[in-house]
Amino acid sequence: MEKPAFWQNTKRYYDLKSYWRNLFGCTVYKLQIDAGFTCPNRDGKVAYGGCIYCDGRGSKLRQQGPLPTVSRQIQDGKSHYGKIRGAGRYIAYFQTFTNTYGPVNHLKAIYDEALAHEDVIGLSVGTRPDCVPDPVLDLLQEYAEHRHVWLEFGLQSIHDRTLRALNRGHTAEQFLDAVRRTAGRGIHLCVHIIAGLPGETRDDTLATARALAALPIQGIKIHCLLALRGTAMGRDYEQGRLTLISREDYIGTVCDVLEILSPGIVIQRLTADGYRDIFLGPSWAAHKLDVLNGIDRELARRGTYQGSRFDTGTAEPKMR
Ligand code: SF4
Repeated sequence: MEKPAFWQNTKRYYDLKSYWRNLFGCTVYKLQIDAGFTCPNRDGKVAYGGCIYCDGRGSKLRQQGPLPTVSRQIQDGKSHYGKIRGAGRYIAYFQTFTNTYGPVNHLKAIYDEALAHEDVIGLSVGTRPDCVPDPVLDLLQEYAEHRHVWLEFGLQSIHDRTLRALNRGHTAEQFLDAVRRTAGRGIHLCVHIIAGLPGETRDDTLATARALAALPIQGIKIHCLLALRGTAMGRDYEQGRLTLISREDYIGTVCDVLEILSPGIVIQRLTADGYRDIFLGPSWAAHKLDVLNGIDRELARRGTYQGSRFDTGTAEPKMR
């Protein structure tokens, strides 16, 4: 396979920075927003306690005290990026917990508040696949008619036995239903998956990748399972009941996943972020640049790219 010309980058995969530069002709930054949501997998609507790897603390901002308004967070984020990197455009990233978990009029108010700011060209909304009723999708579709809109689904695995073990509180079918109901609305879909989940082999992770490759999604985030202090999974790790994925296995798995995905899917993330104060392992995951360089080197060693093993008989992601 030749490297796709439309990537216009120096990578062996289609990274988010290049995608946005190609689309908008400038650098685009994501402004992280904590709008005060909780999660139905924590407050009892779906379950209590949340996913077994989730620390449940929310953003650093939330841990510091009362949350600033969405507008304040946008202004602070813009001045941070403006100072260190110069002017660009921005996507308001509603990141913390489940950002569609509320009445539609409230969602509209906070999304409008973010979009009212100069140079904020769109939204990225993180949520769960069981928390996007049609009226929420209708609202996001309206924005997508004139703004750049992403919806991010936490999935982690396509295997129901794993979703149950993680206490995700939703099934693979609920995810597929959410993808089907989102498709064709002009909303870009990004799916989060984890490599090295307990009870999963590399083949299980690749089955998840193959399932995603056949769906109308436009982006993916991948990271390895992290053990965090204070979580059920962290306790398993501290008590020797959980073995975490090795650096070599993670890099090999990510390269396999990238080869399976369509060349048109935007790779939004290949490492995990944050959590320094409660991070237990794997220790190599703290060195993000080293992991990214390892992925680049492994793809170069293989002579492959994202999409090298993409089955063209499956659905092409739309809205490149
Ligand atoms: S769905 Fe997300 S926010 Fe909710 S418990 Fe799981 S990881 Fe935490």
